[in-house]
Amino acid sequence: MTKINPLKLTESIWDYASSEKSSHISFIDFDSYLVMVDTGMDVEKTKEFRKFAEKTTDRIFQKVIITHYHGNHTFGTNVFKDCEIISTQATRDLLAQEVEGDYKDKNIILPNKTFSGEYELKEGNKTIKIIETNGHTKGSAFVYLPEEGAILTGDLLFADMFPFAGDPTVNPYEWIDALQKMIDLKPNIVIPGHGHISSITELKSQKKVLVNLVKIIEDMMTQKLSVQEIKKSPRLPRYDHDVNERWFNMTVDRFYEVIKEKRKEK
Ligand SMILES: [Zn+2]
Repeated sequence: MTKINPLKLTESIWDYASSEKSSHISFIDFDSYLVMVDTGMDVEKTKEFRKFAEKTTDRIFQKVIITHYHGNHTFGTNVFKDCEIISTQATRDLLAQEVEGDYKDKNIILPNKTFSGEYELKEGNKTIKIIETNGHTKGSAFVYLPEEGAILTGDLLFADMFPFAGDPTVNPYEWIDALQKMIDLKPNIVIPGHGHISSITELKSQKKVLVNLVKIIEDMMTQKLSVQEIKKSPRLPRYDHDVNERWFNMTVDRFYEVIKEKRKEK
């Protein structure tokens, strides 16, 4: 049996990540039922997490929120066949494509409740808001509990790590706006997609990293450097913490394309 040790972070939120950098799974004790936020990659651990949650609270899961389509947040959906699975329409569309391709053997359960923009759940004096921002992926959303000042960011935050920003649908401008939106909510606690439990500080530093990187790439593009030249340029920041070289190169490729598109529009 897989042993897991979830942590109680607020009055309503419990959280678990199997290692320092792996994706978080969380649940919200929503008084009369439980709400899962993201479902992880390791199905056995997600099963254990569900058992733990239902035993500890004596309540059952009714709903699951998926912050974005990536496999390390969605493979565990098959542990929640009996629940309503909520995501943005864009996340459902992207996940449906993956289920036809790379995620074919993963038994993913597609979201059966979708929305665009914002979605709210209310139970007694507790509220869960899901806010679509795009950024890390098209359709990315974060989860906000106003009464507890808590935000579950999905992969809009990689705490003190260089984020995975190489998705084909990444948009750094929308990502920066998403981080600002979360900062403006002045959360007391921030549960990231990856990395340690955080606060507003990590949101600000992630935003800084993205703003800085976009600006440097924009400047070099203005000077007509090719993407290959940009990737080799000493002006490109080399993050000294946790840089995954492959992720970083994918990021520069994608940001270059997004900036190019944006300039065309003008
Ligand atoms: Zn992701």
